[in-house]
Amino acid sequence: MDFLRPQSLAEALALKAERPDAVPIAGGTDVMVELNFDHRRPDALLDLGRVAELAEWSTVDGVVRLGASVPYTRVIAELGEALPALAMASRTVGSPQIRNRGTVGGNLGAASPAGDTHPVLLVTGAQVEVASTRGTRLIPAEEFYLGVKRNALAEDELITAVHLPASTGAQQFAKVGTRNAMVIAVCSFAIALDNGQVRAAIGSAAPTPRRVQEAEEFLAAELPWAAPAPVRDSVKRRFGELVAAAAEPIDDVRGTAAYRKHALSVLARRTLGWAWQEYSEGERECA
Ligand SMILES: Cc1cc2nc3c(=O)[nH]c(=O)nc-3n(C[C@H](O)[C@H](O)[C@H](O)COP(=O)(O)OP(=O)(O)OC[C@H]3O[C@@H](n4cnc5c(N)ncnc54)[C@H](O)[C@@H]3O)c2cc1C
Repeated sequence: MDFLRPQSLAEALALKAERPDAVPIAGGTDVMVELNFDHRRPDALLDLGRVAELAEWSTVDGVVRLGASVPYTRVIAELGEALPALAMASRTVGSPQIRNRGTVGGNLGAASPAGDTHPVLLVTGAQVEVASTRGTRLIPAEEFYLGVKRNALAEDELITAVHLPASTGAQQFAKVGTRNAMVIAVCSFAIALDNGQVRAAIGSAAPTPRRVQEAEEFLAAELPWAAPAPVRDSVKRRFGELVAAAAEPIDDVRGTAAYRKHALSVLARRTLGWAWQEYSEGERECA
């Protein structure tokens, strides 16, 4: 197996153009598992560990550009205020060791329906920046996930960054697992409330992570935006039902389809309660 070690982004893109079969490796927390279990035997690995450009983040005009190789530990420590839901999701990934190595770029590259960052990227309106020697393009998160472990990357492209608007409203993320830590999601849910708009998305409950449009529209029309008051139980309940109805889960070792739907409706109601409380407090402070 060839082990390619570019020292810069330009070199990494040139190598990927020359060797489209080379499998990129960032933190390696997915790739090494696949190699160890012999699920994959690529002819070449493209190590992104020395590409400094991928390991930086910056903010321009209220949008965070998060380099593909920034590990979860840094997202949690440095971006909790600007990207609260992404930091919440990052806190639930694996263990400290996995969070030190694992990256949002790797989560996107793997495109597992259970990846924890995906629902967050959908509700924050994130765009995935990808590049090749042909140029750079931005792919809305909603168009990035094509199927189970399939994404919109061309074979000569690398993920270079994710662009996420810094939060100006309230965001929440929650997941259900079979235990409290080191757990792949049985299902997950993210919600963002901002200025009369609701965005919500589910993970690990369909072939790809997806937004739940009917539930979003229902909630946007029902929330008392003008004079924030507690959300009525009937609204929470209906929102949970609509979220569950948008799921297309499977039965597997982690849970049954029926349990996933039930758990999603609970996550939806709970996270709505937390997000609305935070949103209302923010509105009162501004008034
Ligand atoms: C013990 C354990 C626990 C875990 N727990 C969780 C969890 O709770 N939640 C969760 O979501 N995931 C979990 N994972 C999976 C994994 O940690 C995450 O998916 C992580 O985000 C992968 O990031 P990485 O940098 O390690 O990716 P890598 O393993 O380096 O790469 C993953 C995939 O992305 C591709 N890739 C990486 N970088 C790029 C790039 N810049 N451009 C193009 N393709 C790229 C690789 O080729 C590969 O296909 C766990 C894994 C382990 C081993």
